[in-house]
Amino acid sequence: MSARPTIVPKSEEPEQPWQWPEARWRGIVERVRAGRTLRPETWPNGTRCAVALSFDSDHETGELREGGESIGRLSQGQYGSRAGIPRILKLLEKYSVPATFYVPAVSAMLHPDEQRRVAAEGHEIGIHGWIHERNSILPEASERDLQMRSAEMLERVAGQRPVGIRTPSWDFSPNTLAITRDMGLLYDSSLMADDDCYELLLDGKPTGVVELPVEWIRDDAVYFNMNRFASLRPYTPPSSVLEIFRREFDAAYAEGGLYQLTMHPHIIGHRSRMMILEELIRHIRAHTGIWFATHADIVRYVKGS
Ligand SMILES: [Zn+2]
Repeated sequence: MSARPTIVPKSEEPEQPWQWPEARWRGIVERVRAGRTLRPETWPNGTRCAVALSFDSDHETGELREGGESIGRLSQGQYGSRAGIPRILKLLEKYSVPATFYVPAVSAMLHPDEQRRVAAEGHEIGIHGWIHERNSILPEASERDLQMRSAEMLERVAGQRPVGIRTPSWDFSPNTLAITRDMGLLYDSSLMADDDCYELLLDGKPTGVVELPVEWIRDDAVYFNMNRFASLRPYTPPSSVLEIFRREFDAAYAEGGLYQLTMHPHIIGHRSRMMILEELIRHIRAHTGIWFATHADIVRYVKGS
């Protein structure tokens, strides 16, 4: 075994993408790919549109993930649990809407009663990393260990074994899909190759893992996040966000497809923004043939149909 040279000779520098042979770029693209569509002909009981609402309960891990210790930003995270979650649960109960909550293990350990309440009220709890770490840059052994420990912690806290994952990075490392498959999880909800569910392929081979796709378009964080010390201030009025979310639903309904939405308790849970969620639910409920379901229930249905 030869030692890795400390200085790479010019001739051994990696080739530029435009110089890659086909096998190289094809291999990158085909590492993880969308396989067969899992869009059903009909939804349960003759309904025509499945609605999957989700909340990523990041809370304090949004600050902790990068090693931050800002007490101010931790308090913004705590707001998600203290003020956001009770408002959200109250609204979901008012309209009898089940939802899925993706919870980092550290969030669950900081707020165990919240997770028990979420589960007791009939909602699903899914994996969302250990401390919202950047899973896409982790070494394989660390990623595997954290993903498995996260599932165990959620089960210990909420009494419900997770069957799905939303990766904290909304991205995969080259190993994520194999880990998810090896854990026997039913689904992932982090990728964006379609509007409807599909089966994930690993190096061209079906994995049996279902993707229930997300999109930044249907994520509240994109429209409201700001960083006071950077130029990140894309403040969008709540009415505009409602319009985008509503148009996404209207088209999903017209197509008879899946409508999936991601929100964050510390973002949507504010007084001026909860109206987005309430107006949206009222708009959706005004249609006939709606199936409100957890991500897990939708995945079980599309897999079986
Ligand atoms: Zn998150």
